[in-house]
Amino acid sequence: MKTVVVGAGIGGLAAALGLIRSGAQVEVYERGDRLRTGGNGVILWPGATGILSELGVDTKEFGKPMHRGELLTQDGTLLVWTDMRQVSEAYGHDTLLVPRGGVVERLGAALPEGTVRFGRHCTGVRPVASGGALVSFADGSEVHADVVIGADGFRSALRRTLHPGSVARYTGVATWHGITPPPPGPLTALADSHTVRTYFGRLGIFVVHSVGDGLLHWAFEGPWRPPTADDGTAEAPRTPQIPLLRRWFGDWDPAAAAVLDAVDEDDVHVFPHALHDVLRQWGRGPLTLMGDAAHAIPPRAGMGANQALEDAWVLSHALTDGRHDPEAALRGYEAARVRRVRRVAGSARWMSRSNNMLLMLRLIRRAVPMNKLTHANVRGSSNYLNGHRFTPAGS
Ligand SMILES: Cc1cc2nc3c(=O)[nH]c(=O)nc-3n(C[C@H](O)[C@H](O)[C@H](O)COP(=O)(O)OP(=O)(O)OC[C@H]3O[C@@H](n4cnc5c(N)ncnc54)[C@H](O)[C@@H]3O)c2cc1C
Repeated sequence: MKTVVVGAGIGGLAAALGLIRSGAQVEVYERGDRLRTGGNGVILWPGATGILSELGVDTKEFGKPMHRGELLTQDGTLLVWTDMRQVSEAYGHDTLLVPRGGVVERLGAALPEGTVRFGRHCTGVRPVASGGALVSFADGSEVHADVVIGADGFRSALRRTLHPGSVARYTGVATWHGITPPPPGPLTALADSHTVRTYFGRLGIFVVHSVGDGLLHWAFEGPWRPPTADDGTAEAPRTPQIPLLRRWFGDWDPAAAAVLDAVDEDDVHVFPHALHDVLRQWGRGPLTLMGDAAHAIPPRAGMGANQALEDAWVLSHALTDGRHDPEAALRGYEAARVRRVRRVAGSARWMSRSNNMLLMLRLIRRAVPMNKLTHANVRGSSNYLNGHRFTPAGS
């Protein structure tokens, strides 16, 4: 059985690796001319680090283990904190703070040479009567496969073919972010620490944490109008962004001003937030979707990369454990994931309104133990941590 994966992001690479490790024949088609390693810092929760270790991806010297998560008001008053060591230990896997690009690089390096074919922009896919599907590319070529996985991000060509009316919507919020060496001062200590700080205000949020190697990830979230770029990773517009960020965040905790003093315009990247309606069935016949193609989730939830890895894990097991009929396996995968993804997308939608978040934090700070809440979120979003075992659709 031959599987074609469209898109070599975290989701597509992880699915390919899981399938290849189980003996499947896999080709990955990526529109870029190399792996796209841009992006911000991401938090890999214990489900994601467990999946990476099952895939044979070494995470020992990667990023920084997260020990503490602090939620603060914009002036730096600590509202609540979570002991992430306790949460991670409960599952036997670290929570890691890493650059997105590092995850892409590690997954790419674990694949056999030649698995990813670059410079192949997929334009569509159609099932064929004799079985499987034909994937078309912008250069006019076509490839036949028994199973096709759309892992081509939130503007997925495969999703457009499968569900023409269901596109990702911008939420009206963006992240201005970067990964930079910290300037001397309090941020240096933070870059050495294992703490994630998230400051909440009326306008948006400011997040800062280490991603290892002495580097600091920082991100400001605020209101934003739809982009002109077409890939969801719009470059910073030509108008200077730092004065805008200073106006919004300059009087927050001094850490925010210290970041803005330390970076220049080239360090600032803009990432608009998009959200899908999470459909009940993601694919049809020999086709399915995964990762952002199936369910774009704004970074506020800290779940995009994690949910793509969860998809990859369930999908690769569905297609290879017990050698079920591939189409039943794909529908079984979708059914196994949809409930958990909907939960994550629902809370991301709610979190997109930062006033809600601030109010909620004020209300729960004494009433709800944060570790318990974090356990519930980490476990509730993960098939891996729940010991999911695959059953094909209908069984
Ligand atoms: C360059 C880049 C930077 C990012 N930065 C951030 C960030 O700062 N913050 C954040 O929260 N999330 C970011 N993301 C999204 C984040 O990586 C995902 O939410 C998450 O990792 C799930 O990944 P995915 O594999 O589903 O999709 P993606 O990471 O989007 O990967 C999709 C892949 O498919 C390829 N592709 C797209 N269309 C086609 C096509 N038609 N034919 C062939 N290949 C195609 C893309 O080039 C890309 O390599 C970024 C994604 C990319 C690609």
